[in-house]
Amino acid sequence: MTQSAAVRASSTGANAAGLTQARWWLGSAALTRAGFAHAFCHHGRPDDTSTCAEVVPMRTLRVARQVHGRSVVLAHGWSGSAPPEADAVISADPSMACAIRTADCAPVLVACLRSGAVAAIHAGWRGIACGVIGAAVDAMARELGAVPSQMLAAIGPCARACHYEIGEEVASAMDECGCASAVVRRPGAVRPFLDIAQAAAVHLAHAGVPGESIDADFPCSIESPWCPSHRREPTNPARMLSVIAPSGPAPRPVR
Ligand SMILES: [Zn+2]
Repeated sequence: MTQSAAVRASSTGANAAGLTQARWWLGSAALTRAGFAHAFCHHGRPDDTSTCAEVVPMRTLRVARQVHGRSVVLAHGWSGSAPPEADAVISADPSMACAIRTADCAPVLVACLRSGAVAAIHAGWRGIACGVIGAAVDAMARELGAVPSQMLAAIGPCARACHYEIGEEVASAMDECGCASAVVRRPGAVRPFLDIAQAAAVHLAHAGVPGESIDADFPCSIESPWCPSHRREPTNPARMLSVIAPSGPAPRPVR
């Protein structure tokens, strides 16, 4: 994983101090350099998508009904009123933007330099264990002509090993899906801890995404009071909305 990529922060053009405000977004320097419009956004209200809309103007925002599974859907594959159940949305259509909601699960944004195709993946421990990341990368290749070795990925703010205490059943599930390296056991601690970003990075690498093309240099959601966190605030409905659009010119407004 790269640790060099800068974390950018802004809400209304603010600097890092803007992180304490209700609206903010973070981006990946690697995805920005590659020309992919994207952001990990927080709006303050669950039904507000305005920051994402500013980041990917003129695109149709597509969010599926997330169920902690491994289903992948094409962004243009449904009408806006009836999103299907899925935990990854993929597209190569520049008029679309793929988005997912998270609060401690990892928001994984993937972009293919060769095809311009993208994916937004909701990756909690359940989704990772049942293979949602590999399923999304495979679907990008199969459906959209994407090439894993030409992909970039950013794993946004999520629960990290510094704060994410788990049960032994979760540790076992991580072990079984090849993510033992993401489970941390500390001397004196009764229970293990999980780094979801590390588990996501392992599965991206297994799917063929080069390790040096994976940007996981984002903060822990549980630790960061400005970040939605189900673990820290179980009754707070706030979710981060993370979005990415395929490369290519954004569509122009119809006059
Ligand atoms: Zn933490």
